[in-house]
Amino acid sequence: MAKTKYVYFFGDGDAEGDETMRPLLGGKGANLAQMAKAPLSLPVPPGFTISIDVCQEYYKLGKKYPAGLDTEVAKYLAKLEKSIGKKLGDEKDPLLVSVRSGAAESMPGMMDTILNLGLNDKSVLGLAAKTNNERFAWDAYRRFIQMFGNVAMGVDHDKFEEIISEVKAKAGVKEDTELSTANLQEIVTKYKAMYKREKGEDFPQDPQKQMWAAIGAVFGSWMNPRAITYRKLNNIDERVIKGTAVTVMAMVFGNMGDTSGTGVAFSRDPSTGENHFMAEYLINAQGEDVVAGIRTPMDISALEQQQPKIFAEITKIRNRLEKHYHDMQDMEFTVQEGKLYMLQCRNGKRTGPAAVKMAVDMVGEKLIKKEEALLRVKPDQLDQLLHPQFDAKALKAASPLAAALNASPGAGCGQIVFTAEEAVEWDKAGKKVILVRKETSPDDIAGMYVAQGILTSTGGRTSHAAVVARGMGTPCVCGCSDVVFTGKDEVTIGGKKFAKGDIISIDGSTGKVYGEAIPVTPASVSGDLETFLGWADEVRASSKRVTASGKKVNGFEVLANAEQNEAPQAFRFGAAGIGLCRTEHMFFEEPKLSSFQKMILSETTEDRKKNLKEILPLQKKDFFGIIKAMEGRPVTIRLLDPPLNEFVQAATPAEAQALASKLGYSVDKINAKYAELNEHNPMLGHRGCRLAITYPEIYEMQVEAIALATVEADNKGIKHDVRIMIPNVTTFAELKQIRAQAEAVIASVNEREGTKLKFQIGSMIEFPRAAATADQIAEYADFFSFGTNDLTQTTLGFSRDDYGKFIDSYLDQKVLDNDPFKTLDADGVGAMIEIAETKGRSVKSDLHLGICGEHGGDPASIELCYKLGLNYVSCSPFRVPAARLAGAQAVIKANLAEKGDKKPAKRGPKKGSTRKTTKTAAKKTAEKKTSTRKTAAKKTTARKTTKAGAKKTAKKTRK
Ligand code: PEP
Ligand code: MG
Repeated sequence: MAKTKYVYFFGDGDAEGDETMRPLLGGKGANLAQMAKAPLSLPVPPGFTISIDVCQEYYKLGKKYPAGLDTEVAKYLAKLEKSIGKKLGDEKDPLLVSVRSGAAESMPGMMDTILNLGLNDKSVLGLAAKTNNERFAWDAYRRFIQMFGNVAMGVDHDKFEEIISEVKAKAGVKEDTELSTANLQEIVTKYKAMYKREKGEDFPQDPQKQMWAAIGAVFGSWMNPRAITYRKLNNIDERVIKGTAVTVMAMVFGNMGDTSGTGVAFSRDPSTGENHFMAEYLINAQGEDVVAGIRTPMDISALEQQQPKIFAEITKIRNRLEKHYHDMQDMEFTVQEGKLYMLQCRNGKRTGPAAVKMAVDMVGEKLIKKEEALLRVKPDQLDQLLHPQFDAKALKAASPLAAALNASPGAGCGQIVFTAEEAVEWDKAGKKVILVRKETSPDDIAGMYVAQGILTSTGGRTSHAAVVARGMGTPCVCGCSDVVFTGKDEVTIGGKKFAKGDIISIDGSTGKVYGEAIPVTPASVSGDLETFLGWADEVRASSKRVTASGKKVNGFEVLANAEQNEAPQAFRFGAAGIGLCRTEHMFFEEPKLSSFQKMILSETTEDRKKNLKEILPLQKKDFFGIIKAMEGRPVTIRLLDPPLNEFVQAATPAEAQALASKLGYSVDKINAKYAELNEHNPMLGHRGCRLAITYPEIYEMQVEAIALATVEADNKGIKHDVRIMIPNVTTFAELKQIRAQAEAVIASVNEREGTKLKFQIGSMIEFPRAAATADQIAEYADFFSFGTNDLTQTTLGFSRDDYGKFIDSYLDQKVLDNDPFKTLDADGVGAMIEIAETKGRSVKSDLHLGICGEHGGDPASIELCYKLGLNYVSCSPFRVPAARLAGAQAVIKANLAEKGDKKPAKRGPKKGSTRKTTKTAAKKTAEKKTSTRKTAAKKTTARKTTKAGAKKTAKKTRK
C-alpha cells in the first residue's frame, strides 16, 4: 500500500497542492499553494503544509503524530531551507518561520499562529548582523518568546505584558516602537527568567524543539474552547470540517523600517459590497500589530502616496485574485524592505447586503453566472435586508444580559410593558414598547401588533408568540428562562432588575436580550435584492425533476402563510400566493374575538348558528381583503383548526372575571365552559376537522364566507383563485363528509347568487396515518399540504409545546443532529412525505403538493422538499425572500449533482453536491437519507437557540 502523504510543499513558483485541496490542506494551505504556482505565480514565501489528516490522526493517537511524519517534515524543511538559502537555527543567518493554523472553513482568529520561530540566544545575534539591524532582531526575539511562551507553552499573556510595561515605564516611553535595543534586550532577559520560573525549565533554544512544540500547539488549538464555541455558533459540522492543517512558512518582516509594513485588504467593501478596494496598512509593523489594534493603520490611499509601486502591485494582485477566485478576497500581505509578499487570501466574509450587491455586480461584470451568484448568498443573510437592524457599532459595544430562541428576526428597542393593553395604550401615546410576557395568547394580539419586539420567558419555536411574531415580522425572542417575573410590573433579566417603562433591546436574529437602548436602522429593500430574487424565481420556475415515485414535477413555488393583515406584505416579498391562511388568526382581533368567544360559549346548536351568523360577514370581509391583496394568485384558506379552549382562557379567577364582564356572561358560565373544553392534550384533542365532525355548522359558515367573498371579488372584476384546506385529517372519511358539506354550501351560494364558483378542496397531511392512507385521502382531495409542525409532533412523538425541556440534551449528546421542529427530520418525517407523495400521486398523478409547517422557511428543509417532489413551500412572509433563494439553491444543487453523476467530476465533489438526482436517489434510499441528514445538520442553529427552552415550564396548548 502506498504510504500516506502528509506534507505538501509550496514555493519557487510551484506547489504540490492547489485550491481544490481545502479539505486536506485547509483554506490557508490550499490558497497559498494556488497563489504560489502558475498561472497566478504570486510572490508567496515558500513553505509546507501538514495536512488535516495529521490533525485527525493526532487526536486519534492521543495527541501523538503518525509514524513517518517526522521524516517527511525533515525532508520538506530541508527543501524550504534550500529554497530560501538559509538554515533553521543557523547562528549566522537563520531561517525564521511562522507556524500557522488553517481549517477548511475559515475560523478567523480562533486558532493559533506563532511567528519568528527559529530564534535563540545565538541566532538573534546572527540575524542582527545579517540584517544590520540590531533593534529589529531583538524585537523579533522578544515577540517570539512572548508568542511561543503564551501560545505553545501556556504562560499567561499578562506576565509578558507586565514585563514590557515595567521596562517601558523605566525607560520613560509609551509605545513599543520607542523601545531601544537595550530595552528590548532587557525584556528578553526578563522574559526568559520569568519563563523559567513559570515552566521550571529554560526557554527552548533548539529550533527543532521549538518547531515541533509550535506544530503541536496549532493542532491543539483546534480543540481550544474559543474554536469549539466558534464552530458551535457558526454551525460548523466537525464531521465535515475535520480539523486544522499546519502551515510552516518562511518569515518575511514588515518591521524592518519605513520601507516595510503589513496590511490587510478586502477586494470589495465587505459591509456594503461596493466595488472598491479596501485595505489598511501599518508601516514598520508585523501582522499581529494590526490585529492587536495597538496602532491605527492607515488607509490604502495613504499607501498609494507613500509607496506607489507597492500600491500598484497590490492593486494588480487584488484584481487578479478576484478574477481567479471569482469572489471577493480577504488578503494579508507584508512588505519587506520594498518587496511585497502575499501571506494569505480567502473568500472574504461579508454582510447580507454586501453579499447580494457583490453577487449582482459580479454577474454584471461577467465574473460569475447567475447560478453561482445565487449560491453565494446564504438565505439567512437576506434577513439583514428585510428587518430593521441594530446599528452594527452600537451592537458590538453592547453586552447581552440573556439569550434564548431567535424566534423572529429583526431588532427591537423600546420600553418594557407587561400586558398587551399597556402596549396598545403606550403606543397610542407615541411610545415604543417591548412586550414582555411569560407567554402570549390570542388576547394579546393587538399589543403584539404595536410592539417593537416580543420577549417571552416560555414557549418554543412554534409557540403562539413565535408563529404570530414571525407572521407580523415583529422581532421576537422566546423561551427566555433568564426572564423571571418577580412581582407586579417587575422582572429580572439575567439577574438584573427591570420595571415597567425601562428600556431594553432584543435581537430576534440572534436571540440576545440587552438591558439598554441600541439604535435601530430601518430596513431597505434595494434594487439589487429584487434583481437577485428575480433570478431565483427564474431558476425555480424552470426546474424539472422526477420524483421517487417516477412522477415528473415542474417548478417549485414559494407561497406565504398569511392572513388579512400580512397578505400585502407577503405579496410585496414576492410570494406566489397564500399557502396557509390560518382562519383562527383572523379571530384574534376585536370585535371578531368576542363574537367568536360567544360562539364557543353557545349551549345549543341553534345558539351556535346564531352566533356564527354574526361572524360570517366579518370573515367574508377578511377573506375578500386577502383575495384582493393577492391579485389572482392562489389563496389557500384553512378552515378552523385549533382547540376551542384557546379562545376561552379562564385559567385564573381574574381571567374568568375579565372574560365574563367583556361578554356579559356570568363567571360561572365561563368557568363551566372552560372546564368542559379544557383537555389534557389539546394538540391531540378536539381540534381541526374533528370540530367540524361534531359542529358542522362552524365549517359551513366559513365555507359560505369564502364563497361570498369570492362572489364579491367576481362582481368587482377582481381575479381570484381560492382554495379550501381541511386540517388535521386522520381518515378519508372525515374529508369525504366535510367535502360533501362544503360542496353543498357552495352549491347553495351559487344558486342564490347565480354564480358557478368552484373551489379546490385539499387536505392537510399532519399525521402518519394520513400519510399511510394518502391514496384513500387523495380520492377526495384536490391537493395536499404537509403540516409538518403536527407531522413532526406525531411522527416523532415529541410534543411541539414541551419538547424544549429535553431537546438540548438530545443535541448536546448528539442523539439528534437537529431540532426537528426547525429542520425537517429527513429519515422520519421525510419518509412520511415520501409515502404520501407516492400514494397520493398513484391516484392523481399531478396531485399538487406543498408544505406549510414552519419548516417551509428553513433552507435545509426546503432542499428536502424539493427532492421529495413537492410543488411548493409556504412560510411566513418575512421568510419568503429567503425561501425563494433557498428553493433556487436546491434546484441548482440538484442540477449540479445530476451533471456530476453523468460526467466524472474533475475536482473533488463540491460541498452539498454529493446527492444523487431524485430518480437515482429513489433506488438508493439509504444513501440519500444519510447525506440529507448531513446537509441539515450543518445548517442547524438548534443548540445555540434552544438553550433556554430546556428550563421552560410545561405549556399546555397553543400555536
Ligand atoms: C402544521 O401543523 O404544520 C401547521 C401548519 O398547522 P398548525 O401549525 O397551525 O397546527
Ligand atoms: Mg397543524
